[in-house]
Amino acid sequence: MISFQPSRQLLLIEIERRCGHCKARNAVGLTKDETPAYHGFACETCERWTEDFLLERDLPDDWWEDLQIRSFDQHILPDDRE
Ligand SMILES: [Zn+2]
Repeated sequence: MISFQPSRQLLLIEIERRCGHCKARNAVGLTKDETPAYHGFACETCERWTEDFLLERDLPDDWWEDLQIRSFDQHILPDDRE
């Protein structure tokens, strides 16, 4: 029987994106705390900004679930003032 180690907590992921300007490949490192605020990256080659967002396939399942919960929370605003 194969024994496997308990999975370590993932602290940083790397997603691969292409720059919207020069098409250079960029590896973007994100910590879990950074995922809710992620909205793009600065290109390593041309240094210009590309607006971007995270997709479910970019993230480990538990990160994605957490992100859904967090962004849901952010969008609940006290909107029942009259
Ligand atoms: Zn670029």
